[in-house]
Amino acid sequence: MIEESNNKKTALVCGAGGFIGGHLVKRLKKEGFWVRGVDIKEHEFSKTEADEFVVGDLRDPRVVEKVIDMPFDEVYQLAADMGGAGYVFSGKHDADVMHNSALCNLNVMHYGQIAGVKKIFYSSSACIYPEYNQMDPNNPTCSEDSAYPAAPDSEYGWEKLFSERMFFSYHRNYNVDVRVARFHNIFGPEGTWNNGKEKAPAAMCRKVSEASDGDAIEVWGDGEQTRSFLYIDECLDAVRRFMDSDFIGPLNIGSREMISINGLVDMVMNIAGKQLPITHIDGPLGVRGRTSDNTLIKEKLHWEPTESLRSGMEKTYHWIDEQVKKNK
Ligand code: NAD
Repeated sequence: MIEESNNKKTALVCGAGGFIGGHLVKRLKKEGFWVRGVDIKEHEFSKTEADEFVVGDLRDPRVVEKVIDMPFDEVYQLAADMGGAGYVFSGKHDADVMHNSALCNLNVMHYGQIAGVKKIFYSSSACIYPEYNQMDPNNPTCSEDSAYPAAPDSEYGWEKLFSERMFFSYHRNYNVDVRVARFHNIFGPEGTWNNGKEKAPAAMCRKVSEASDGDAIEVWGDGEQTRSFLYIDECLDAVRRFMDSDFIGPLNIGSREMISINGLVDMVMNIAGKQLPITHIDGPLGVRGRTSDNTLIKEKLHWEPTESLRSGMEKTYHWIDEQVKKNK
């Protein structure tokens, strides 16, 4: 490995078998990095492009010590026990989410510091923002400085907040060069779409793709809750720019194009060329409104995403439609 990686920058992607991690491996390879990926499972939808891929449990310190056996130029800690609203807001997985994700974060940060990694990226989430600022669907506040007094509406958010603080503590006490990003609903092809952990864009694409004429599309709540969604390629543009900057975060990485869940379903039906009725049913909802505040990213990285939601949703719908057909 040492010979292969000679003269190349080295990166470790934790969570490389997942949605964002899988895409990040491809991006880093394109940029010329030598990449090691690690995940508890292999990627479900494509063959990894990592130079090495370790199947291992990052909750186990012995695994993490072995995986971080050199001072990588860049470590990306994306591994987490996570899912969409149906997974994190049902309350049924709170203990696992907190325990599993915290252990991965603690181990990666601890052994990363010992191995002398040059830079470490942590993916926090918009779910850390206080519920009291996100009651109005048209005017949510999610600027980076609005995180405290803390009041996330899920244990997933509380764990992320703890881990952000843990990464910043290693920066202060051990001088580790960290980058902490808060992702806002990232979506795209090659992500979970049918196992109960999928998020709204994938779930809506699947429901519309599977529906025959006359079938109704089920939406949780009244569907008037708003969100913004960021296409995976733009998310990675932001992550790579952030890594190359001097700013440590926290930094929102998200889109400002807000849409209601009803609006998202209409968009998907329009892409699919189907007109289907919508039924509103009870289900886990999350906050009433949320969107990314991009003032800081514009100031620090001189950049913000520009691709329209419609364009990203078209690519995502076509990929999910293919999966639905393959699984029939
Ligand atoms: P994902 O579930 O597709 O990827 C996470 C990966 O971590 C999975 O492949 C999973 O197998 C792996 N993992 C979980 N426990 C592990 C363990 N004990 N050991 C090794 N690997 C383990 O999710 P994603 O959408 O790619 O998210 C990546 C990161 O970004 C996560 O930290 C997530 O919380 C964060 N994030 C994502 C979004 C989003 O919209 N996708 C939004 C906010 C934050």
